[in-house]
Amino acid sequence: MTAESIYIHIPFCKTKCPYCDFASWARKEHLIDKYFDALLFEIRTKCEAYDAYNVGFGRDQTLEHNNPIRTIFIGGGTPSLVSPEYYEKVFSELKKYFKIDNNCEITLELNPGTARDDFLEGYKKLGINRISIGAQSFNEKILETLGRKHSVDDTIEAIEKIKNAGITNFNLDFIYAVPGITKEIWTDSIYRALEFEATHISAYSLIVEPNTPFEQIYKNPKLLPSDDFAYDLYFELCSILKENDFVHYEVSNFAKPGYESKHNINYWLAKEFFAFGTGAHRHLNKLRTSNIKDLETYIAYPNLENIIDFQVDQKFEKIMLNSRLNVGFELDLVKEVTTKSHKEITKLLNDLSNEGYLELLNNKIHLTDKGLFVNNEILLKLT
Ligand code: SF4
Repeated sequence: MTAESIYIHIPFCKTKCPYCDFASWARKEHLIDKYFDALLFEIRTKCEAYDAYNVGFGRDQTLEHNNPIRTIFIGGGTPSLVSPEYYEKVFSELKKYFKIDNNCEITLELNPGTARDDFLEGYKKLGINRISIGAQSFNEKILETLGRKHSVDDTIEAIEKIKNAGITNFNLDFIYAVPGITKEIWTDSIYRALEFEATHISAYSLIVEPNTPFEQIYKNPKLLPSDDFAYDLYFELCSILKENDFVHYEVSNFAKPGYESKHNINYWLAKEFFAFGTGAHRHLNKLRTSNIKDLETYIAYPNLENIIDFQVDQKFEKIMLNSRLNVGFELDLVKEVTTKSHKEITKLLNDLSNEGYLELLNNKIHLTDKGLFVNNEILLKLT
């Protein structure tokens, strides 16, 4: 195993947002103790099994030697609801099996309204050096439409507390293409993120997921902003952030140079990674597996795993993930997986390039902003 990243899932939230289909639950904080017992058990038993696997394959090394961990991402849910003492236990368990690189990027997700000075100081002492804030918007009306229970002031307060704790590397997560949003509201949110000196901005179009309250509310797609309007908002985002020296390094992610999320880049490069916690997905030994997405079942059986569609073609998956990044993806790989003839591919690439969706450089396909917005459609055409 050569993975360099670890994902830890924390499933507790103050309330459940009506668009959310993540493994997260509200009003379950009484299970935090039991959850962390299960999490530590999972880390211990799986890492012992991974060590045994390595030895079994004649690799006379433990995980510690195989995997200097360079990124850890504590996601959720709302990890900022949990006190640093719990994470201290997680880190000391991980350190039994892994060597954590001195420059390891360690991210923790925080939701406005849950930022506490004492917790943030504790996180910092543990080595957490990056915070990802679920801001979603700097407009009260949009927060209300999204069913978020925090206010704009909560977000501003969270940013101040994070900075006071000495953490200057922080991401702001936004959702655009929300019913009722205007270009003015959206650009105001982007400019406020710049004003607060976010080092990283992630922006996702609202997706109405099945089995969420939003599925009922927005049964009629006409209630949602049109694709054209969503593209206008995306284009505004790309332009403003470029003008302000942000690198557009992935479809939905922008960073000041040097602040790109190493953890997420590893994911889009289709690299392998460890993962622990309910609903967590991992990629190890060419296999993608996921844990049980149910809090109580996970607590009872933390080691249960599902294999995720092992029919997925690894090359196709690599193209799909790589195409999201600004570094481009290999034309040769496309030629290996496509059902189209060489002539058809050449024509398609020419057409897409003339229409401004991509550029071909050194045998690599680079999607433009326009192309990134519809990257899946482009892949469907090419393969
Ligand atoms: S805070 Fe995040 S994880 Fe929790 S319910 Fe809302 S969207 Fe889902």
